[in-house]
Amino acid sequence: MKYISTNHSTPAVSFFEAMRNGLAPDGGLYMPAEIPVLPDPFWSSLHELSFQEIAFRMARPFFEGELTDYELRSVAEDAFNYPLKLVSVSDRHSVLELFHGPTLAFKDFGARFMARLFSEQAQKEQREVTILVATSGDTGSAVAHGFYKVPGVKVCLLYPKGKVSKLQEQQMATLGENVTVLEVEGVFDDCQRLVKQAFTDADLSSQILLSSANSINIARLLPQSFYYAYAFGELKKEGAKNPVFSVPSGNFGNLTGGLFAMKMGMPVNTFLAATNVNDVVPEFLAGTSFTPKDSIQTISNAMDVGNPSNFARIQHLFAHSDEAIRHHLKGYSFTDGETRETIREALEIHNYLFCPHTAIGFRAGESYRAGRSGETSVVTLATAHPVKFSDVIEPETGHKIEIPARLKKWLNREKESITIGKTFDEFKSFLMETA
Ligand SMILES: *Cc1c(COP(=O)(O)O)cnc(C)c1O
Repeated sequence: MKYISTNHSTPAVSFFEAMRNGLAPDGGLYMPAEIPVLPDPFWSSLHELSFQEIAFRMARPFFEGELTDYELRSVAEDAFNYPLKLVSVSDRHSVLELFHGPTLAFKDFGARFMARLFSEQAQKEQREVTILVATSGDTGSAVAHGFYKVPGVKVCLLYPKGKVSKLQEQQMATLGENVTVLEVEGVFDDCQRLVKQAFTDADLSSQILLSSANSINIARLLPQSFYYAYAFGELKKEGAKNPVFSVPSGNFGNLTGGLFAMKMGMPVNTFLAATNVNDVVPEFLAGTSFTPKDSIQTISNAMDVGNPSNFARIQHLFAHSDEAIRHHLKGYSFTDGETRETIREALEIHNYLFCPHTAIGFRAGESYRAGRSGETSVVTLATAHPVKFSDVIEPETGHKIEIPARLKKWLNREKESITIGKTFDEFKSFLMETA
């Protein structure tokens, strides 16, 4: 499979080159040159397959000629070593819990899969790679845990000192091993600037093989299609009809994963684009042109995005037909007040606790069904464990949330971070010394 840029002005590359580049040289996002269609028997036998097997079979055409079946199978088995669960919450409305990984959010799927692919690449090239990541908190922990103890890869994580939450810091900065954490005396933009400059520095690139791992990487996107197929198979066991997926969205990487599954042949045609008041995509779906805005801060902060980066991929998938996009996606947008109300009501009525993001997805699903026949079933993707947002949820519901053991174990560990200033020289000499 070759990978092309959504901007179409750069040559097609292999998967591993696309992964290493992150962003295409023309500033576009990488996409597979075509989306492989899997045969009907695959889609009708999903309910007999494990998630790891589904992942392997869906991934295979994307890695043709680059990884053997044996290598790809071990990547999938190693990456997805935790459960995912489809839980029925109300009548014909289930929740796909994607938060059973180490950092309690769906981003573990992408981060863990990508990390093992970087490791495969490092082993093939017999050269260690160093991943630089600037983070304002949330994605950093998924990446750090994804790469933790993965052979052939070192991670250097930069975050603004004193500007991430205690929980996020404990999740990122207590790992040690191959994960180095730098607290930068500055703001998030300083961290990003240092990372960008490192990639263009000739001394560094002659000494160290550097790569990035941010959320637009194609290696993080692909695995986000696998769990849609898994959920579809589970629904089939239950005899569910006409399923639609409701996806709490910010940069729309998760929803794009669902569209990949649809293009690969999954018989689902409708996806709900559920957002908070950062409603650029729902507005577009309602008929206006796509108009990025400044983001607005909300309680579902992982979705506070005013210019969703994966929209370019969605346009690419539908050959820039607004009509086709509007046919498959239905937009919903809810306020913080509505989000809180949904969290409270779901606990009272269904005895189920949502994180603020998932609450928005669930409400979108209920709204969609309200005007339709009873046959429609909805799956809402549960993107994070509620405990990650206990500061919002506990006052709202009076319900104390138990911290899962896999999170608790990091909370009492000693921080292992290094503080640096915000000048590039300081960062550069740190990297050179550790090379
Ligand atoms: C990242 C994130 C989202 C948004 O996902 P996108 O792929 O950016 O649309 C939603 N919920 C949670 C909890 C997240 O961490």
